[in-house]
Amino acid sequence: MNIHEYQAKELFQKFGVATSPGKVARTPEEAEAIARELGEKDIVVKAQIHAGGRGKGTFKNGFKGGVHLVKSAAEAKEVAGKMLGQTLVTHQTGPEGKVVNQVLVGKSVDIAKEYYFAILLDRGTSAPVVIASTEGGVEIEAVAEKTPEKILREPVHPLLGLQPFQARELATQLGLGGALLRPASELFLALYRLFAACDCSIVEINPLVLTPDKQVLALDAKFNFDDNALYRHKEIVALRDITEEDPREVEASKSGLNYIGLDGDIACLVNGAGLAMATMDIIQYAGGRPANFLDVGGGASKEQVTAAFKIILADPQVRGILVNIFGGIMDCNVIATGIVAAARETELKIPLVVRLEGNNVAAGKKTLAESGLALTAADDLDDAARKVVAAIGAAAA
Ligand code: ADP
Ligand code: MG
Repeated sequence: MNIHEYQAKELFQKFGVATSPGKVARTPEEAEAIARELGEKDIVVKAQIHAGGRGKGTFKNGFKGGVHLVKSAAEAKEVAGKMLGQTLVTHQTGPEGKVVNQVLVGKSVDIAKEYYFAILLDRGTSAPVVIASTEGGVEIEAVAEKTPEKILREPVHPLLGLQPFQARELATQLGLGGALLRPASELFLALYRLFAACDCSIVEINPLVLTPDKQVLALDAKFNFDDNALYRHKEIVALRDITEEDPREVEASKSGLNYIGLDGDIACLVNGAGLAMATMDIIQYAGGRPANFLDVGGGASKEQVTAAFKIILADPQVRGILVNIFGGIMDCNVIATGIVAAARETELKIPLVVRLEGNNVAAGKKTLAESGLALTAADDLDDAARKVVAAIGAAAA
């Protein structure tokens, strides 16, 4: 789960991370009022979307930039008016862009230098790692490619956390020594406390800045939280903005399904994450392209199977469906009953290939056979993938 920058700023406050003040506005008038509260003069108006690259983005109405420095409350109102309700396209949103429903109105600060600072999980060591660089405010991927020596990596012990000596060493290596050592290392330690306490998988500050009057501040914030830990963070779940998420995934999460939308045309409905991954691979291997990852879990109910079918069919790109079930805990007949109910309810018109195996498979196959549905039965994974790829080919011809 991701959150907006203005929400991240509230967490900064709670954990003592130095940042510049700011508040969220949903109308141009609110933006004006906040700018006035902040003293009018040095104000920044920032589009709030779950994507980076806003500064260099362009609105579909032609307005350039999702981050604007302004000099008066009237100007803040005007800029907010050009952003709110408009679609911002950045290199991270894809060409369709994202609608801006709110803006952050903050205090703009003078910047002497921009840095990059992030904490994430390193799969290689199964532990957190701090990534930092003197090359901030630009795309870190480009820095990593062109000048990898400018990227610092500091592994963190998962039980001990980031140690003060590590924070000081990072600050020193970034050139933030002397009088800056304390504010910089304190900011790093505060960010680590936030990262650990909130079960984040990514905290990315780009840029972290040094001001001419020697303050070290976090000016941007991209957070990602581990979905598996959200059950113990009700206050973070409350920050969720579903208008920023793939509507198919929102629908799936309501029914407790693990769904990830992809851009192919063969939908799959599978039980078990490993089998779902294998199913996507084998569709690809047979010459097709999967439309999604969908794991209905080990003990899905008839209602969940029906919900899964509806989500699959709501995707206009889908031209065929492959159901691949290995009934270990799952009763094949529950799946079969769910498929029949969903196919009837949705008046299924596209090819459906079903591979059922395992617990109570005979009853499941009987339910499908007696349903009168025009589905194709498959014997194994290979056979199923070939049949669904052939079926959508035939349907298109
Ligand atoms: P994004 O990464 O989505 O483009 P940022 O928050 O990093 O958004 O803003 C882009 C740039 O705008 C920053 O690199 C920084 O130079 C400038 N900027 C952002 N916030 C402020 C601020 N409060 N004061 C001054 N400049 C800012
Ligand atoms: Mg940024």
